[in-house]
Amino acid sequence: MTDYVIEARGLSKAYGDFQALKPVDFKVPLGRIVGVIGANGAGKTTMLNAVLGLMSFDGELSVMGLDPSKERGKLMQEVCFIADVATLPKWMKVAEVLDYVEGVHPKFNRSKAMSYLGRTKVPLDRKVRALSKGMTVQLHLAVVMSIDAKLLVLDEPTLGLDIIFRKQFYASLIEEYFDEDRTIVVTTHQVEEIEHILTDVIFIKDGDIVVDEDMETLTQQYIEVMVAKDNEEEAMALGPIYKGVSFGKSTCVYKNKDRETLAKLGETRRLGLADIFVATMTGEGQ
Ligand code: ATP
Repeated sequence: MTDYVIEARGLSKAYGDFQALKPVDFKVPLGRIVGVIGANGAGKTTMLNAVLGLMSFDGELSVMGLDPSKERGKLMQEVCFIADVATLPKWMKVAEVLDYVEGVHPKFNRSKAMSYLGRTKVPLDRKVRALSKGMTVQLHLAVVMSIDAKLLVLDEPTLGLDIIFRKQFYASLIEEYFDEDRTIVVTTHQVEEIEHILTDVIFIKDGDIVVDEDMETLTQQYIEVMVAKDNEEEAMALGPIYKGVSFGKSTCVYKNKDRETLAKLGETRRLGLADIFVATMTGEGQ
C-alpha cells in the first residue's frame, strides 16, 4: 500500500484521435476532500472513470494500492461511487434494493441506510421506476453512504436535486460519513456549494490539470482589487491575471502579489473558489 489513496503518473486517455485527458500527474492523500473542477467536456468524468477502473487508460495509476485496470473487483470493495447517471435496477422495490446490496456488499450497513431513508420521503415499497429523480438520487446516496468504503467518488452527485436536499447532502457527508480515514473526490458545477467542505482542488482545462493545490494555499494566492479611478495605470502595470468591471469601477485579480501594494490601489478582497476558477480559466494566470 502506498501513502496515497490515488497516485497517477502520466495518466492519459484518448478516444481515437481525440486526447480527452493529457498525461497528468496527481496524488490524493488519505483524509482529504478533493474537488475536481472544470468546464463542460474538460475531462473530469474521464479522469474519475479511470480511477474507478471503468475504462482503459494510458500511464500509471494506483488507487488504494491497486491497479484499477487489473484489480477492479478488489478495488470495488474499498471504493464507492455515484455517477451522474444513477443506475439502480428500475424493476426492484426500494426494500429489495437494500436486500440486494446487503447480499453483494460485505461492508453494507443496512440499519444506517434505513436511518438515512427515514429522513426522506422515499417509500420502501415503491419500485425504483416510480421514484422521482431526486428520490432516486436520495436512495442511491443512502446506499452509498452506508457502505464502509475508504474512497468515495462522486461525479455530479447532486445533479437534479433541489437546493434543500443539496445542502443536506453535503452536510450529512461531512457529519456522518467523512473522517480522517476516508477520502472523497467530487466533481460538480455548483462550486459555491462545496467550497466550504473541500480541503483540496484540482482544476482541469482541456484535459490538462492546471491547478492542484490545497484550499488554503489556493485562496491565499488570489486577491481582487476594486481599483480607484486614479490608480488604473498603476494597477495595469502590476499585471493582473483578470480584468472586469463592477459597479462602474474596474476590478483586477492578481496572483501572488504583495497584499500591501495592492491595498494602495483600492479596496481588496479574497476571491471565492468560483471566481478563482473563472479567473484561472479565462485569464492569463495559471
Ligand atoms: P461535463 O462537465 O460536461 O460532464 P467532463 O469534464 O466530465 O464534462 P468528460 O465527460 O470527461 O468531460 O469528456 C471529456 C471529453 O472527452 C469531451 O470532449 C467528450 O466529448 C469526450 N468524450 C467522452 N467520452 C467519450 C467517448 N466515449 N468517445 C469519444 N469522446 C468522448
